[in-house]
Amino acid sequence: MILVSEMKRFIQYSVAMKTKIVLYSFIALFFFIGCSKDSDLNSNANAKIDKSANLLSTGASAADLLANTKFDELLIEITYVEGFRPSTEAIATFEEFLRARTFKEEITITYKQLTSPEEETLTLNEIVDLEKENRTAYNNGSTLAVYIYFADAPAETDDESEDTVTLGAVYQNTSMVIYEATIRDLVGNSTFVSIADVEAATLNHEFGHLLGLVDLGTPAINAHEDQDAESHCTTDGCLMRAELQFGRSMLKMMQSNTSKGLAAIPELDAECILDLQSNGGR
Ligand SMILES: [Zn+2]
Ligand SMILES: [Zn+2]
Repeated sequence: MILVSEMKRFIQYSVAMKTKIVLYSFIALFFFIGCSKDSDLNSNANAKIDKSANLLSTGASAADLLANTKFDELLIEITYVEGFRPSTEAIATFEEFLRARTFKEEITITYKQLTSPEEETLTLNEIVDLEKENRTAYNNGSTLAVYIYFADAPAETDDESEDTVTLGAVYQNTSMVIYEATIRDLVGNSTFVSIADVEAATLNHEFGHLLGLVDLGTPAINAHEDQDAESHCTTDGCLMRAELQFGRSMLKMMQSNTSKGLAAIPELDAECILDLQSNGGR
């Protein structure tokens, strides 16, 4: 895929250059020199950052996130729309989860505030475009970089009448979106669950997918993938249950946990942990 697209780009570039050469042969020479200097500068700037390792499919970096073999540092770049910064408590819970399940000990989290894209809803393509504009951290040496965007608009696919509002999604090997506005609407004035709990549950669930669960880059040792919900777990109460990415059903699950005296935020079951351990995790 990458090779084909690079080839296409090269062909487009060659055609563009030929057109330019023909054009410039009719124009004064100094214009041509000016142009070639510009394109040299651009290609140098692009050559500095190699983004290819961060543009792979979800789960492709599972083993690299879990073990320290190739990368021993993890850099989490959090971008958020002004007013939609995640709670400190949720990020602390998320970091605990990372330390519990991966061998990464050097974990850095950075924050960058963004202006609103002024959209009613967001398509996945729009989220990918926003990442291209705003992401600054890519894999570098032994540092593995992950990008998380906290959005001020809901997913375009949300259907409130069906109660299927999406709280988060992953769309590449190191990219995640959290629909922060949706989380805050959902929690509202709830007395049994906090915004921080839902943020943390969503972050942990989505990161579980980046860690390759279920059977998404981290092979399932014993079959426990939900046949009705791809990449999700069949075990009741597991963090990787499909209902965790949707609003109401997540609240129900968290409420049932607290009523049983358990922590509100669901944890991975034994099967999911076994898979992670078999792929280099803890
Ligand atoms: Zn999921
Ligand atoms: Zn599970």
